[in-house]
Amino acid sequence: MSRVDEVVVGGGIAGLVLARRLAMAGRKVALLEASDRLGGQLLRIEVAGITVDAGAESFATRGGVVAQLATEIGLGADLVSPLDAPAWLYRDDGSAIALPATSLLGIPGVPLAADVIAAIGTRAAMRAELDVAMPPTVGAKAATLGELVRRRMGSAVLRGLVDPVVRGVHSTSADQLPLERAHPGLRTALLREGSLSHGVLSLRAGAAAGSQVGGIRGGMARLADELIADLELFGVDVRLGARIAFDELTRQRAGDVEGRVVLAAAPPTAGEHRVTIVLLAVDQPALDAAPRGTGMLVATDAPGVRARALTHLTAKWAWVGEQAAGRHVLRLSYDGHGIPDLADVARRDAATLLGVTLDAPLDVAIVPWVRAAPATHAVDGMRRIGEAESGTGLAAVVAAAEREAGRLLDERAEEDGVATD
Ligand SMILES: Cc1cc2nc3c(=O)[nH]c(=O)nc-3n(C[C@H](O)[C@H](O)[C@H](O)COP(=O)(O)OP(=O)(O)OC[C@H]3O[C@@H](n4cnc5c(N)ncnc54)[C@H](O)[C@@H]3O)c2cc1C
Repeated sequence: MSRVDEVVVGGGIAGLVLARRLAMAGRKVALLEASDRLGGQLLRIEVAGITVDAGAESFATRGGVVAQLATEIGLGADLVSPLDAPAWLYRDDGSAIALPATSLLGIPGVPLAADVIAAIGTRAAMRAELDVAMPPTVGAKAATLGELVRRRMGSAVLRGLVDPVVRGVHSTSADQLPLERAHPGLRTALLREGSLSHGVLSLRAGAAAGSQVGGIRGGMARLADELIADLELFGVDVRLGARIAFDELTRQRAGDVEGRVVLAAAPPTAGEHRVTIVLLAVDQPALDAAPRGTGMLVATDAPGVRARALTHLTAKWAWVGEQAAGRHVLRLSYDGHGIPDLADVARRDAATLLGVTLDAPLDVAIVPWVRAAPATHAVDGMRRIGEAESGTGLAAVVAAAEREAGRLLDERAEEDGVATD
């Protein structure tokens, strides 16, 4: 049995951020990771010799917390913005349209804008516009994003715009997505601005440099690389292949390490979600013009397509395009694991979504993921961070890990103060 000040269980971004902060402050820290590598859902992969992210490939700029961390660990000069072009939507009638430019999570900021009318029709756009005439309290207590949007803007906006975006980003429907997890500031923005559409406009205006997402040249996996290098620098005891049995955890012991335990890994639960990412490297000059901008989201009942989203990586990120020398990398997301003939299904889906013919790809990579379900139970009083606790996405996960580090260090400072009094 070894003894440290803090034991962090789980070496994804949450655990890495926390372990680094604590170690930098002089704490003795152990980091226990079940698999044979650190980084969790940050993973670099090569297709046809082109480096891309197989897990998270961008971050929400809201709050600035990820950019701040990246800058602190030496990646500030490599922060990049994606191609300034809308994502597209593949609709349930098999047509494709650009998503309204002024929107957030698919919620239109200007319901009567021409691109909104083109997407959902005049009648539905007029229904959405009623939002500005309603008192701000309507829907303000909504538990889910779906409930909020339905009440304020109607079900056509929900089905036609919001659900495909939520499905692409969160692998769930807007009716299943708690409002705070969808966007922590949306409820407050509604009450502050008086309507949902004005709330959307104010949140968009507040996003850094106009872009709601950012990336890192070379891939988001570089975040993990730099944090890992710091763990070594600050003497964190990193143990790979250390799968902790959740039912044997206590607040003061994980595996054979004693110390204050922080859980940065999700216990397996029935609600966990299986996702498969397919990366296709293809040769098709018609894609040079980025016919569908940065990529496509797929409506739930769209005919003949099994993917729920496609990202045109070589169009979206200049650093990927530069490596590809005229070839293209497409990234498709699927719900579930073990889909038969997936490489072929993905090639056909990509051709349909992008409106081009695609021959056999130059290279294919298939990466299965298990996404954590929201935390339902924990060891009594156990500190928890990570996706199951704070919701999907690097912005939420990093912010929560930073907060927890601050809390732990404050507590320790108080305890030390008491001990010396
Ligand atoms: C395909 C995909 C695309 C994504 N795209 C984006 C995006 O573009 N933008 C964005 O912001 N977010 C994106 N995300 C989400 C984002 O990557 C995650 O929210 C975030 O990385 C979660 O970090 P985490 O540390 O909480 O969890 P994880 O990265 O899952 O780390 C948890 C770690 O705990 C370890 N572990 C599990 N059980 C145990 C145990 N019993 N004992 C010890 N260790 C254990 C795991 O092996 C893992 O390393 C994406 C995720 C995926 C999968």
